[in-house]
Parts: sequence; structure tokens; C-alpha cells
Amino acid sequence: MKIHILLGAPGSGKGTQAKRLVQKRSLIHLSTGDILRDAVSKGTEIGLRAKALMASGKLVDDDTVNGLVFARLQNESGDVLFDGYPRTLQQAESLETFLSSQGISLGFVIDIFVPESVLEARVVDRMVCSNNDCGAIYHLVTKRPHQEGVCDVCHSPLKHRADDCSEAFRSRMVEFNKTFQPLQAHYKGRPNYRSVDGNLAPDAIHATILDLFQEQA
Ligand SMILES: [Zn+2]
Repeated sequence: MKIHILLGAPGSGKGTQAKRLVQKRSLIHLSTGDILRDAVSKGTEIGLRAKALMASGKLVDDDTVNGLVFARLQNESGDVLFDGYPRTLQQAESLETFLSSQGISLGFVIDIFVPESVLEARVVDRMVCSNNDCGAIYHLVTKRPHQEGVCDVCHSPLKHRADDCSEAFRSRMVEFNKTFQPLQAHYKGRPNYRSVDGNLAPDAIHATILDLFQEQA
């Protein structure tokens, strides 16, 4: 059993790459959100604690997240890809302690790097269909609608989401970097850390990541 970790900012395409990689390499895809929902629906003790925290509008703390993840890992036997975990330095450190106690080795830490200016353009140039039942997403540069301002699917008008502006993006990035940068620094320089150029087309990123796994095999 090996644990691989995928790192990347929101909008880096991490989720898409995770899905493609797990299919190709038969990995078990574990995202914190899925683990959380699973534990809540099974009504485990720690799941109930997480549910109570969420119900009161609080963030689920590191110890609870770690507990959920470790309980889940004990029920898995194949190689795992984490997507969105660890999110903080504390989670990363606890994960390492747990892995060494279980004799599980850390595989790749793949960091999908996209410059902030590119992430910002992805957000600011995004248009969404105003029909909530449709929700199609467009991009003024990379995925233009056939007719300007009109959804290809349902012909409703397109709009900008309020959160898709530079100011909101920048304040989200400031918050994100506060926890991400110490996490990234923790993994950088490790022999199994790989930074992947997230500015390439999704197919090229996928191929680059697969190559890493080929090298190792
Ligand atoms: Zn539409």
C-alpha cells in the first residue's frame, strides 16, 4: 500500500487530474469531502462529531479530519490518491506519524503549479449560465459560447458569478496561501515531491503525471 498526494490551488485542475489518474492507475480516490460524508452517513462516533461541527457552522478541525482519514485508511488495502488532504501542515505531520506507525510508505507528492495570474484569468473570464437547472460554464478565452452571452445548451443568458471577480479571487488566494505555503514547503525538497506545470493543457498534464508513475514502475 502506498499513499500519493495531489496538491494544487483551487482552479489548478487538481480535481480533474485526480479523476483521470485514479482511473488509469486503479488508485483509490480519497477526498476529504467524500470521507466526511461517508463517516457522517455511517454515523460513526467521529463522523457524528464532524456532523455537529458542520451543523454549527464551524470548520472541521485538524484532529477530527485526521481521525476520519486514518479510520478510512485502515479499511483500505490498495494504493490511495489523496485529493484535498492534507490541507494543513498539522495534517501533513500527523499523516506522516500515522503512516510510519502503520508501515505505509508515502508515494508521490504531485504539486500542480499554476501561476496566480493564470488562476485569476480562469476565474475572472468565467461565465456561467443563468439558468440554475443548466449551470453550463464558459470561459471568454478558452471556451467561448457560439453566440456571445448566450448559453449553447439552453439559450439562457450568461452571467458572471459575484465571486468571480479579481477582488474576491485575491482575498481567497491570501487565505489559501496562509495554509498552503507551509504545507508546500514541508514537501518541497523531498525526493518524492514533483512539481507539475499546471499551465499545460489537461491532456499534457495527465501525460506528465502518468510518466512519473511509469518511471517509478
Ligand atoms: Zn444553459
